[in-house]
Amino acid sequence: MNDTALAGLPRNILLDEIVPARAPWDHLVREGEILRIIDLEGNQSGDFLMYAAHDDTERYSAQDTIAAQGNIFLRTGSVLMSNEGRPMAEIVGTTVAYHDTIGGACSCESNTLRYGHHTKAQHACVENFLSSNARHGRGKRDMVSNINWFMNVPVESDGTLGIVDGISAAGLYVDLKARMDLIAVISNCPQINNPCNGFNPTPLRVVIAGEPGRR
Ligand SMILES: [Zn+2]
Repeated sequence: MNDTALAGLPRNILLDEIVPARAPWDHLVREGEILRIIDLEGNQSGDFLMYAAHDDTERYSAQDTIAAQGNIFLRTGSVLMSNEGRPMAEIVGTTVAYHDTIGGACSCESNTLRYGHHTKAQHACVENFLSSNARHGRGKRDMVSNINWFMNVPVESDGTLGIVDGISAAGLYVDLKARMDLIAVISNCPQINNPCNGFNPTPLRVVIAGEPGRR
């Protein structure tokens, strides 16, 4: 089958899965492998964390990443740094202009504060992250600042942040090349109270690919 969504990836497809709307997902990505995340229907935020596979006290650091590249947006060429100052992964390609790493993850608490107590029963990205992380023995204190793939958080000249309509569209993707063995964790954002998912959460597709013979 000629699947154009796999174009440009190494030949060896190790995993190809759909992350249903609102669901969590996590998987090992070995050094050198590419993780492609595809926004299947468009305007869907994929909240994202990474932990070093050998020792999960080493994990993604938004602060170190921003400081190292001197820019707040994630684009092709951005190197995603750990709290130990080591490269965890690199964005080797993306068809979206930029991605966010300062907007944070939605939670039940922030939802009730922002949108009212009637949202209390809605699970949020923090609950998805906790659900995935719990399978690896990680808890609330292991939650750190995350990446929001496909989410548009513009920063105005006075420093004001916005959460506005996405700049992503159906079929757009981001490719991450792992620079160490890592556990990637995705919360397919369930948010329905602001436009980050177009008020309609939709599935993501994740593909892990590597060079033949590497695994
Ligand atoms: Zn969310």
